[in-house]
Amino acid sequence: MNSSREANTSLQPPSRRHFIRAAALAGSSLFFTGLSPQVTKPLSSAKETKRYGIALVGLGQYAMGELAPALQMTSNATLSGLVSGTHEKRIRYGQKYAIPDSNIYNYANFDRISDNKEIDIVYVVLPNSMHAEYTIRAAESGKHVICEKPLGLNVKECDQMIDACKANGVTLHVGYRLHFDPYHQVVAHLGRTQSLGAPSFLRAECCQVIGDPSQWRLKKAMAGGGAVYDIGIYCIQAARYAMNEEPIAVTAQEFKTDPIKFKEVDETVTFQLEFPSGVVANSTCSYNSHGHSLRIAYSKNNDSLELDNAFYYRSLSGRLNGRLMDNIQPTNQQAAQIDAICESITSGIDCGISGQEGRQDMKIIAALYQSLEKGGNRIEI
Ligand code: NDP
Repeated sequence: MNSSREANTSLQPPSRRHFIRAAALAGSSLFFTGLSPQVTKPLSSAKETKRYGIALVGLGQYAMGELAPALQMTSNATLSGLVSGTHEKRIRYGQKYAIPDSNIYNYANFDRISDNKEIDIVYVVLPNSMHAEYTIRAAESGKHVICEKPLGLNVKECDQMIDACKANGVTLHVGYRLHFDPYHQVVAHLGRTQSLGAPSFLRAECCQVIGDPSQWRLKKAMAGGGAVYDIGIYCIQAARYAMNEEPIAVTAQEFKTDPIKFKEVDETVTFQLEFPSGVVANSTCSYNSHGHSLRIAYSKNNDSLELDNAFYYRSLSGRLNGRLMDNIQPTNQQAAQIDAICESITSGIDCGISGQEGRQDMKIIAALYQSLEKGGNRIEI
């Protein structure tokens, strides 16, 4: 039993009432609508059954390790194009996924994608510093855009990306896969409905050991920042949808154990998001340890929800008042995300991960770095 359980009002096992509530929540049909509705423009040719052709841009670990396999599981999308600067990958993945040569591009001839009727959506999976350029080029080619997180390097870039998509009549979504994970949908549902009362406590931790010291994630110009930009963003997202409020102020503290490896970017940051209701959500993100968890306490009956492996692609588990939420069916987050985006483009109904969502996170991230620069001072958002 960990200290958070011991801190509960009694050391008795969770009551049957608590277990029933956990079971009911886990089995309920939940729909995540997000915090910042953005009505999207449907494609004029879109029909309910349309499968959107998606081109992946940047064939790295996430694109080819997760997104390409997930695209084989989607109902509304097909992997129909590849964009890569590496000749060998264009050949290898072109063959593996049976992509015709006419749908394979490099970064120089990428803009010709505008003539390709088999590609409806461009999915930008490049280093963070390239997100804005390729989103804007894709939008100007008349393609809908999905861009990986963080949306841009700063709020100004996010605005340019949002504006470019708007000006070209295409949609912009951020690859926030956890909105489509059933455990996170419970968290968001509870935030929205307050059925267990308002959250009274929130703690999030997203840490992973980063390997290769020469990778772009350790270069400020390409990554924007370190752990906060890359994985702290999941804690920010979770706090926002768990609270169903926007933070009004932040504080942040940075710790470094390896000033050489993490010369340019943050290694470990602990930060606090202050919400209007008075709750201060505490988070830690780190590039130098492992551990993903989320714990939220609710005010009505002192219920407590905990997610383990909280921000991973797979193997998440949840407990409500210590009882395993074992009737939640895991889903492929990426496939669910892509299907939801396609449905949103068809219907024009927001699926909760618009460019505005990405911009809001960037605003919060900017405030966190401002706090770090000012020695941990409170920064109002
Ligand atoms: P990788 O380094 O594995 O892949 C990035 C790819 O971008 C490279 O393989 C390369 O592809 C292309 N690229 C073009 N120019 C450069 C350059 N100068 N330096 C390095 N790569 C370049 O990164 P990830 O796949 O891990 O991350 C890509 C994006 O996806 C990031 O924004 C990251 O935040 C996001 N991400 C999101 C996750 C999520 O869960 N939503 C999880 C992991 C990452 P090519 O050779 O084909 O040109």
